[in-house]
Amino acid sequence: MKYNRILLKLSGEALMGQQQYGIDAVRLMQYAEEIKAAAATGTQVAVVIGGGNIFRGVQAEAFGLDRVQGDYMGMLATVINSMALQSALEKLGVNTRLLSGVTIQRVCEPYIRRRAMRHLEKGRVVIFGAGIGSPYFTTDSAASLRAIEIEADVVLKGTRVDGIYTADPEKDPSAVRFPEITFDEVMEKNLNVMDMTAFTLCKENNLPIIVFDMNKGGNLQRLLDGESVGTLVSM
Ligand code: UDP
Repeated sequence: MKYNRILLKLSGEALMGQQQYGIDAVRLMQYAEEIKAAAATGTQVAVVIGGGNIFRGVQAEAFGLDRVQGDYMGMLATVINSMALQSALEKLGVNTRLLSGVTIQRVCEPYIRRRAMRHLEKGRVVIFGAGIGSPYFTTDSAASLRAIEIEADVVLKGTRVDGIYTADPEKDPSAVRFPEITFDEVMEKNLNVMDMTAFTLCKENNLPIIVFDMNKGGNLQRLLDGESVGTLVSM
């Protein structure tokens, strides 16, 4: 087994699938199937899912509303996505727990590190909702922080692009993908992997990141099998 414990970061935006807003049921079930297969290998799986398909704090600012309020709205959006993913996984017979950075006791457990570790040891898929529970952060930061806390071996950032490129491959057809890159090179080349807070947390704690295309079926499994998929960022 390549990794004992992983933290999978999924963007909320990716959950929209072909839609303009909200949750696409087909995409949701696809993610749940992939996570189920990953957990079935014996790898302990923790998941952080974003909220960009519903709300981001910066949108509140654009409306002329309070940013902090907007960020809490964004955090609650991640709880909605987390609940959807939890249901999808349970439909497939996977044991899950949802731990939230903002206490919402009717629907999820509060985030307690020791409890998260215990769930993982018991083979439950642990979903971390509400980011880190503080405004001015992102779910990428939550993914990095929680991964460090639970001593995950790697952060797997599932996106719609199959890795880190020399330029934006959606705009520049000559862009080339890096199979591997160091933290320092990412900074020197000013490449966009995660926001700076999230990236620095990984760098300072020597936590590798793999950026990969989560929408391509089987990619998560290939990664766990030790295949080179996407881009590995490490020391
Ligand atoms: N957010 C926050 N603190 C956190 C995590 C998230 O304030 O620890 C808010 C922030 O407004 C963010 C929104 O929740 O824009 C949704 O998360 P994110 O933008 O990371 O979602 P994604 O881009 O992955 O869909």
